[in-house]
Amino acid sequence: MSKTTNNGTLPVQEFEYKAEMKQLLDLIVHSLYTHPEIYLRELISNASDALSKVRFNALTDQDILDKESELAIRITIDSKEMTFVIEDSGVGMTEEELIANLGTVAKSGTLSFMQSLKEQQQQLDGNLIGQFGVGFYSVFMVTEEVTVETRSARTDSQGYRWHSAGQGTYTIEKIDKASRGTRISFKLKEEHKEFAEEYRVEQIIKKYSNFVDFPIYLGEKQVNSVTALWQRSKNELKDEEVNEFYKFIANDYNDPLDYLPVSVEGMVSFKALLFLPKEAPPEMLYRQGELENHGPQLYVKKVLIQNECRDLLPEYLRFIAGVVDTEDLSLNVSREVVQSSPVMAKIRQILTGKILGWFETLAKEQPEKFKTFYKAFGPIIKIGLNTDFTNRDKLIELLRFESTKTAAGEYVTLKEYSERMGEDQKEIYYHSGTSRAQLLAHPNLEYFQDMGIEVLLLSDPVDVFVIPSIHEFDKKPLKSIEKPDIDFSKQKQKKEGAEPLPENLLSPVLQLFRETLSEEIEDVLESHRLVNSPVTLVSGKDGLDSQMEKMMKMMQANMPAAKRILEVNISHPIIRNLSGMLIANAGNPLIKTVIRQLYEGALFLEGGLDSNTAFLSRMNELIEVATLSR
Ligand code: ADP
Repeated sequence: MSKTTNNGTLPVQEFEYKAEMKQLLDLIVHSLYTHPEIYLRELISNASDALSKVRFNALTDQDILDKESELAIRITIDSKEMTFVIEDSGVGMTEEELIANLGTVAKSGTLSFMQSLKEQQQQLDGNLIGQFGVGFYSVFMVTEEVTVETRSARTDSQGYRWHSAGQGTYTIEKIDKASRGTRISFKLKEEHKEFAEEYRVEQIIKKYSNFVDFPIYLGEKQVNSVTALWQRSKNELKDEEVNEFYKFIANDYNDPLDYLPVSVEGMVSFKALLFLPKEAPPEMLYRQGELENHGPQLYVKKVLIQNECRDLLPEYLRFIAGVVDTEDLSLNVSREVVQSSPVMAKIRQILTGKILGWFETLAKEQPEKFKTFYKAFGPIIKIGLNTDFTNRDKLIELLRFESTKTAAGEYVTLKEYSERMGEDQKEIYYHSGTSRAQLLAHPNLEYFQDMGIEVLLLSDPVDVFVIPSIHEFDKKPLKSIEKPDIDFSKQKQKKEGAEPLPENLLSPVLQLFRETLSEEIEDVLESHRLVNSPVTLVSGKDGLDSQMEKMMKMMQANMPAAKRILEVNISHPIIRNLSGMLIANAGNPLIKTVIRQLYEGALFLEGGLDSNTAFLSRMNELIEVATLSR
């Protein structure tokens, strides 16, 4: 420490930074930071902290300097002179505080940490800045020299000027400063003169500090327009204001479908304001990876830490937009720390519960809204069934399905299904395919329609991956109607004239089917599920659901198709006629043509027929016969 004089009147003290500090500054300025603009975020956040402290003191302490002065941050820039000034009316600093805060590294180990980052050639991104309490020094990225003038809010305080060129020393001198707070001023380096441009400074403030709880004035104008809505209680929120806020943070031009204010105090404390968008961005549905770029914003003490914070919510809820603000993380928490922090894990767990509860309430109290939500995001939340086992039951309750008993676009829940199914029905049936119309036309549905048994119609591509994994609901197994082992004991009285083929005539017919289709089919069996159609395809004994197989084939083109079972309606006239033909002339080539045509017809119906030409020429052959006999 050496003493010089300033105009021969006031002493100017020169201080050396601690050795560690020198190296640290060197690292900050020359190696580590990638976004110089964040110096502004750091300065604003320091000012905001200082203002919060003075607000707190004013509430608890009678004796405080300038008790009536406005709590605000003022930025003044001069683009010609390339100067930048930021001033706050916060707590300020005493001389001792100046030395302690701006002359030393707050935490031990900081330097070695930063050095190791440099060795690994890792860059400090905006969020890592000042993780160890060195945010202020980021200002040396954009300037050569900084002046800090400050006066503590204590009534007996005096003003001090701190000055440093970041080169190893700084000076402190006593000054006359009329009001409490801190004023930081500097001239920008040529290559950073953009930070003296109004539009640029405004842009940065809006990006990082829009919701700082104190007004930020740039010249005469207040730049941060939106107040911290999430800090308010539910009944202080106005829809209109909240909707504007949503549009701003989510870049959506629509109002949100609904919003949820959350306030939690306990093991962790946080406030959140969450939004349900009206529509899913199209890319979200088709490319799961895109979910990574979604998620609420993470704030710590009203300062933005991360824009789309993946770790706040599980993947299947990441379409939720909004803000989560906690006091329990440090302001300069890094992305890596965020990821592994137990605080985050706890927040995530609590939020997930709140959000699922929110959906449940919507379903109960605003079913139309819920339907809109489910149409947009149902396919995404289903992912949770396979990933979030803690909340699996809640998710299952949220599921909605079209069924053979709902109108198109209307839904039934598993609970409703289970409650309205007949006493002797033991299983919950579903049928998967590409569209409601296609599903309803399928012969496999005939038995169920005939018997008035409800069948869930699954046409969302995700369904085949998640619904079978539910296994059972309310102790009732879920079963695809394609499965061979379904209880068909409750057949209705047969229609008149639809006598089934007697056993001795049936087995040669089935045998002929087997021989003709031995390449394609696992087995041919008598059907109990058909009413009007002659044949249908069902899963083989260990086979996958056909829709599932189709999906897997799309992903993996050369996957061999599992063989299926062809079921034959032994009361159908075609089958009876076939039996007759067989008795008359077992060598009649037409028999095999008919059998193959029946099989391919069943494939055709499911969209699984590979070549139409053979199918069509066979059909013409049969038409020729039919027209000949007239
Ligand atoms: P951090 O803010 O992470 O502690 P900084 O290097 O940014 O680290 O600041 C160091 C300390 O200097 C702060 O903790 C605070 O005590 C003090 N300080 C910085 N800016 C101000 C300000 N505008 N008003 C009052 N104190 C300040």
